[in-house]
Amino acid sequence: MDSDIEIEGENIEQDKIKHFHEFGLDDRILKAIAKLGWIEPTVIQESTIPLLIEGKDVLIRARTGSGKTAAFAIPLIQKILSTKSQQSHQETKALILAPSKELCKQIYQVFIDLTIKCSREVRSVDVSPQADLNTQKPLLAEKPDIVIGTPSRVLQHLKAGNIKLKKSLETLIIDEADLMFSFGYEEDVKAVLGYLPTVYQAALASATLSEDVLSLKKLVLHNPAVLKLEEPPLAPPSQLAHYSLAAEENNKAAILYALLKLHLIRGKSIIFVNTVDRCYKLKLFLEQFGIPTCVLNSELPASSRCRAVTQFNVGTYDIIIASDEKALEEPHLIKDKKTKRKKDKESGVARGIDFQYVSNVINFDFPLDVNSYIHRVGRTARGKNQGTALSFVSVRERPLLDEVENQLKDSYGREHLFKTYQFKLEEVEGFRYRARDAWKAVTRIAVREARLKEIKQEVLNCNKLKSYFEDNPRDLQSLRQDKALHTVKIQPHLRDVPDYIVPPSLKRLIGLGKRKRKFNREISTSGATATKSKHDARASNPLISLSIPNKKKK
Ligand code: AMP
Repeated sequence: MDSDIEIEGENIEQDKIKHFHEFGLDDRILKAIAKLGWIEPTVIQESTIPLLIEGKDVLIRARTGSGKTAAFAIPLIQKILSTKSQQSHQETKALILAPSKELCKQIYQVFIDLTIKCSREVRSVDVSPQADLNTQKPLLAEKPDIVIGTPSRVLQHLKAGNIKLKKSLETLIIDEADLMFSFGYEEDVKAVLGYLPTVYQAALASATLSEDVLSLKKLVLHNPAVLKLEEPPLAPPSQLAHYSLAAEENNKAAILYALLKLHLIRGKSIIFVNTVDRCYKLKLFLEQFGIPTCVLNSELPASSRCRAVTQFNVGTYDIIIASDEKALEEPHLIKDKKTKRKKDKESGVARGIDFQYVSNVINFDFPLDVNSYIHRVGRTARGKNQGTALSFVSVRERPLLDEVENQLKDSYGREHLFKTYQFKLEEVEGFRYRARDAWKAVTRIAVREARLKEIKQEVLNCNKLKSYFEDNPRDLQSLRQDKALHTVKIQPHLRDVPDYIVPPSLKRLIGLGKRKRKFNREISTSGATATKSKHDARASNPLISLSIPNKKKK
């Protein structure tokens, strides 16, 4: 892929590097990279690593999933290792700021993975978890080489004198820089800069080069190389296929149910809807058919969201339902402004979170703008993996799809970005019939109570309330007894798919006539796996034209 390096100040010649060992990296880093299974650097890594190793300031603009974390982590670890032997005493050399706890945790994990062979020499600490400042103080007293945190958390430690960077800091990295300002961190970032020395190497990583990023650039970068990689905002169509499926509001649930139960969607999937209530509505709907899902709820604390992402990543759930925060903030979707909870500003939902090995992104509700589409479908086809994005589009949503098509088709150099996903709803009448009742069964009260149930669960799990409950055991008791919540009644027979509702074309295709019982058993027990023969047969049938990538094992 072509890369366009816009240079500010001086000219930098780039030789293309195709293997990690060509960067002249320490063996311990190379071994860690090999252990991660990364065969070659991504485009952004090819360009960024040599510049940072040379000591340049860099502004990296790269799409989510481009490998930008390692692009700044690898040279930083190299820099620390190369000066370690001459270092007389331990000092904190690098500060990494990111706008959410989830991102900090992810960045920290990348450092842990990349320093697996030199964990004594290069130590990092993530101060973003909401532990008491004093609990983290001893960790910082050991002067870890790298401190990672949100600006407000780092600032608290700097003010408390728990870390001193004025003399020791050599590198500052700000990740997801474009979100720093929109998350309200402007003042905190500026205040943190006041605690840093006047000279240090700096890097900014950002998905967009917004005005905010340019002003941050002026504040922290000196004579930087600006890497505006001429990458399209998303992976190419050969890696990420975009499908649209015409579906009116009252049919969307039936179609989703049929696609999942007939194994036409397989592999790990993220389903996006436009409000938190819709997340729960869909979860309760699918639950009735024995399809387990978890919800990523922006209104719950970061720890619970991290738990949801982890459960999805480790395979406890194959489907996660999310509403991105853009939609949450759309005023016309929030009927009663008074009920709008103040969101935890350190907690972005979808942006930047590393969902692993996502095969499909399904837009149950079409995103409200192009950026949101990019951020959603960018959760799949990450690194070098394949991915599929399937959007359900009602007549009302059609103009939004046209807008996405218009804006993205140029980057792809093709007339149509979206392929039509052929799906004949009339062929799955039985599914529609069952879905209609199941959808109706999820009343507003059921949704509200499901949400309440999750909040109660959070309260029970909350460490901070432990001592309160010790003093007030009756309150704990009443919360625990509150089990008689109205949930949607589960009817066990809905888990199975009777033969008569499976369309004849599909039965033939998957050989249901001969393997009837096995098919039914598979269908009733799994929402995501399928046999190889089904997979092979799929390719030729338009009804099941969604191509599913192979799940790459870690
Ligand atoms: P990031 O853009 O930093 O969030 O990285 C996106 C994903 O790409 C992460 O899951 C990384 O583990 C993965 N990744 C980063 N670098 C490489 C590489 N060189 N080869 C394969 N996967 C990579």
